Amino acid sequence: MEKAELNKEIRASGLKSTKSRCAILDILKQNDRPASADEVYMELKSRGISLNISTVYRTLDAMTEKNLVKKLSITGESKALFELNAIGHKHYLVCLGCRKTMAIEGCPLESFERELAEETDFVIEGHKLDIYGYCPECRNKT
Ligand SMILES: [Zn+2]
Ligand SMILES: [Zn+2]
Repeated sequence: MEKAELNKEIRASGLKSTKSRCAILDILKQNDRPASADEVYMELKSRGISLNISTVYRTLDAMTEKNLVKKLSITGESKALFELNAIGHKHYLVCLGCRKTMAIEGCPLESFERELAEETDFVIEGHKLDIYGYCPECRNKT
């Protein structure tokens, strides 16, 4: 992801843009599923950025407060998970076999929405889209 764009997003949320915030935002953007603070920490490490785990927690909390990030608590999971706060706007690919879900990158309907708004004079507020199928592992089982 472009550095400038990450900077912009962080500043738009009201936080100061720092190297560690940019890196954490970038990691969450690249993840196709929610990540725990430990996972973010490990990923930072593999990118050669050494932050201590409490800084990672603090940064994630600050970003959650500013609605940049969403904190999920999943029943039966002791760790909090973090994902990007794409407000009402995330599409998932769902496996009907194993129920694995994967977020789809980007939104395929953005230009369609614009055209539809023009055509119908509606003010479009959003849409829903989930895609179902079988993942490679499930497909190969049959
Ligand atoms: Zn599957
Ligand atoms: Zn969409």
